[in-house]
Amino acid sequence: MRGARGTVVVLVVIALVAAGALAGVLATRGASPTLEQQVRDLTDRLDPDGPYRAPTPAERDAVVGAVTALLAAGSDGQVHRGVLEAAGFAVGTARSAAGVDYLVARSDPASQRSWGLIALPLDRPPRLLVEVPHPNADLATEEVGLAVLAARPDAVYLQAGAHRRASGERADVAHEEDSLFHALAVELSTRLGLPQLQLHGFAERADLDADVVLGGGPDDPAPPVVELADRLEAAGLQVCRAWAQRCSRLEGRTNVQGRAAARDGLPFAHVEMSAPVRRRPDRVAPVLAAFGA
Ligand SMILES: [Zn+2]
Repeated sequence: MRGARGTVVVLVVIALVAAGALAGVLATRGASPTLEQQVRDLTDRLDPDGPYRAPTPAERDAVVGAVTALLAAGSDGQVHRGVLEAAGFAVGTARSAAGVDYLVARSDPASQRSWGLIALPLDRPPRLLVEVPHPNADLATEEVGLAVLAARPDAVYLQAGAHRRASGERADVAHEEDSLFHALAVELSTRLGLPQLQLHGFAERADLDADVVLGGGPDDPAPPVVELADRLEAAGLQVCRAWAQRCSRLEGRTNVQGRAAARDGLPFAHVEMSAPVRRRPDRVAPVLAAFGA
């Protein structure tokens, strides 16, 4: 009797271990990389000598149309995903460390069509556009962007897909209006009214004593940009206000997304961060995440 009970116990234990192992295998097989892993993987692979060409107007319109359709409620997702895949994007869903699910479209950095990464929050309307135009070149700006997303689950994430110096700097999406990045930034900000939070990084300069250089486009900044400057200072950061001070030519007045936003009177924050600020994204991100909220 005791022996039979012992056998049953052993069998139950074996069955539980086997079930656990199977569940583990299935979970591993089904798990796609997190949003953070996908962003870091793409960023790490960027190179100043990497390939890049600008999209044709037709390619640009197709991708912008698909992205805006995917953001619209009730659209047929499969068709629009297919448009993105035809344009060279890998499309899938990914969960962030904060537990938010995104639709992620990611271009191939080994391809000429190295046009970017966009993450759209699923099941919630977007309220903010977080932009990382110089990944890898402006070190760790993607980490600040991801930390902002963790604090703002209603944000869209947009990152360039090539190093800014690729293809003779034609890949510098902050200064090239023919880029997909620019087209998406303009479309999402104007159509959905999303404030743009654009993240950059600067190296130490002798003529600048600031943690953050904050710009608001070519003209006077929108009120939310001034509020952001106030909040950054309240958090203990030294801010150079590009509209009121000289900030070592980091003002961002020639930025094409900023110029487009100014034409439409939309809030645009050009955030240049020192290396120490970028090394501690958790400190600055909650302040940045309040932009336009
Ligand atoms: Zn930059």
